[in-house]
Amino acid sequence: MNLSEEQRQIRDTVREFAVEEIRPVAADCDEDQEFPEDVWDEMAELGLTGMTVPEEYGGLDVDRLTYSLVNEEVAYGMLSVATALSVHSLATSCIAEFGDDDQKERWLPEMVDGRPVGAFALSEPQAGSNPAEMTTEARREGDEYVIDGKKQWITNGKRAGVVVLFAKTDRDDPRSVTQFVVPKDADGLEVGKKEDKLGLRASDTTTLVFDDVRVPAANRLTEEGRGLSAAFHILTGGRIGIASQSVGLAQAALDEAVAYAQDREQFGKPLADIQTIRHKLADMQTKVQAARLLTRDAARTEDRGETPEMAASMAKYFASESAVDVTNEAVQIHGGYGYTTDFDVERFYRDSKITTIYEGTSEIQKKVIARNLLD
Ligand SMILES: Cc1cc2nc3c(=O)[nH]c(=O)nc-3n(C[C@H](O)[C@H](O)[C@H](O)COP(=O)(O)OP(=O)(O)OC[C@H]3O[C@@H](n4cnc5c(N)ncnc54)[C@H](O)[C@@H]3O)c2cc1C
Repeated sequence: MNLSEEQRQIRDTVREFAVEEIRPVAADCDEDQEFPEDVWDEMAELGLTGMTVPEEYGGLDVDRLTYSLVNEEVAYGMLSVATALSVHSLATSCIAEFGDDDQKERWLPEMVDGRPVGAFALSEPQAGSNPAEMTTEARREGDEYVIDGKKQWITNGKRAGVVVLFAKTDRDDPRSVTQFVVPKDADGLEVGKKEDKLGLRASDTTTLVFDDVRVPAANRLTEEGRGLSAAFHILTGGRIGIASQSVGLAQAALDEAVAYAQDREQFGKPLADIQTIRHKLADMQTKVQAARLLTRDAARTEDRGETPEMAASMAKYFASESAVDVTNEAVQIHGGYGYTTDFDVERFYRDSKITTIYEGTSEIQKKVIARNLLD
């Protein structure tokens, strides 16, 4: 697939890490709903927590294709870990792209080292697919902003030390959304309910409640009113990351299904000798590879300096829906065993569904694709 030697090396290193360090702890972390913090620290040592940070602040500043490869391989290990990493990367991207020199100097070197962990707080209880409907407000008072409101579904909500927050500087004006960097230990900022989820159970998803939280005006990223376009810009790259994770998860399920079909015998022969099963595997392989090609095309579009909006939405839509299909078939090929926690495909299936929902649902991706096609 025309990867450079460096990209191949990074991909292979992260695959090895995913297989040796992430996958072995995945079932227990899922069961306990605990994030593997040791794995996070090891990823930081590999430089992965600084992928979207310029080299002058200690980051790797990788191109989008390399970012995609890393996301694919980490998700091959466990989707919860890949999700936490990609949200941390959204936060570092916001600071790297929109921060001034002081803000970058203050936050990025430590985030590259993995601590503090970053969160990206856009969604609210009543504003998901349309974040312009948010009601969280940041009022200017002298040299400070005072923040009130509630954010919902925040990945790394409990773990994070830094929150990139989107709030309105004029509650009634949808165009007034502005970005802020808020330290998690700010007075008045509380971690609320931790969600009990179908899948992605090792990744913490919480509400964040802001009650008269005061931050210096110096914590505002870019000018007032530029937040929503900044969020959409960052999320376009993020969607390529989620598409990549969907590919990695589907590949993991396919590999398990291939191995199981060769091992398990029924009617006196391996499942892999039954035509119906062979066709299932052929469909799965085709979907995984098609999703990978769309995803890499989106990444390359961005790396060429072109707008990847439509390519990113096509990749995210197709790869996430394919991950649901492929993990479903992987469970089917495992029969009853696939329905138990003794086999990884059970977790893969539960984890896969979120990829069609976060960072823009499949319906929203189709809206974006149609808009690019027609308007
Ligand atoms: C585990 C998890 C982690 C998350 N992490 C984060 C995070 O770190 N930061 C963050 O800010 N958010 C995060 N989210 C939020 C996520 O991005 C939203 O859940 C998602 O954008 C959908 O919003 P919603 O849940 O409010 O659904 P709604 O917007 O209420 O949508 C409900 C349904 O209606 C459909 N729909 C809505 N509008 C339209 C339309 N115009 N056309 C067609 N169909 C439509 C949707 O596709 C969906 O099927 C996370 C969510 C989850 C579940």
